[in-house]
Amino acid sequence: MKSIAIDGPAGAGKSTLARQLAKELGFLYVDTGAIYRTVALAVLRAGIAPEDADKVTDILGTLQIRMDYGPDGEQRMFLDGEDVSQAIREHRVSGLASKVSAIPAVRDFLLDFQRRQAREHSVVMDGRDIGTVVLPQADVKIFLTAAAQARAQRRLLELQQRGQQAEYETILRDIIQRDDLDEHRPIAPLRRAEDAELLDTTHLNLEQSLEELLRMVKEKIDL
Ligand code: C5P
Repeated sequence: MKSIAIDGPAGAGKSTLARQLAKELGFLYVDTGAIYRTVALAVLRAGIAPEDADKVTDILGTLQIRMDYGPDGEQRMFLDGEDVSQAIREHRVSGLASKVSAIPAVRDFLLDFQRRQAREHSVVMDGRDIGTVVLPQADVKIFLTAAAQARAQRRLLELQQRGQQAEYETILRDIIQRDDLDEHRPIAPLRRAEDAELLDTTHLNLEQSLEELLRMVKEKIDL
């Protein structure tokens, strides 16, 4: 099994690029943010404050989180049997996910879940701590980033295309706030692994970024 770890801040294009890369290589794409989002949604539905680490920890054992792939190859998330793939994309869930993901018990709870995927399949896995914590032995590690303004602009477009209302200033503020939370949490903070290659996509379009990614991958693994 081969594994490719892609980490970076929100909106750097990780999921779009990781998905395309996986398709290109015939690997499984694992979006780990979606898993954290699913826990966040459960916390929201349970009416628990995301800062209340004890209560969040208490409900973890009661959750049934499942992941599978639709006929189109898209990763789907299930919470207690319900397909929540759409619900976890709501804006309010993003902020909650950053908060619950700072709770050590949540990260522990999801660690095995994520590693199992990489044991069973060749994967392109994206997240915040894949190269540093989840798959430190990954064959290829990439840290994907872009200026916060570029990321906010992309997120805005993405939301508009989904027909959701959004405002650039709010998105930019949320992105900066989320970066801050992800980078400064004591456990598994967002940071570039020492052996990860940096790819800054501020001035690259999707096609150029993918080309660059493929080049980086081919340098490390024989395909
Ligand atoms: O990537 P996405 O925006 O879907 O992730 C939602 C949140 O989940 C992030 O802001 C981050 O706090 C958390 N996360 C994490 N570790 C990962 C993936 C996501 O802490 N591997």
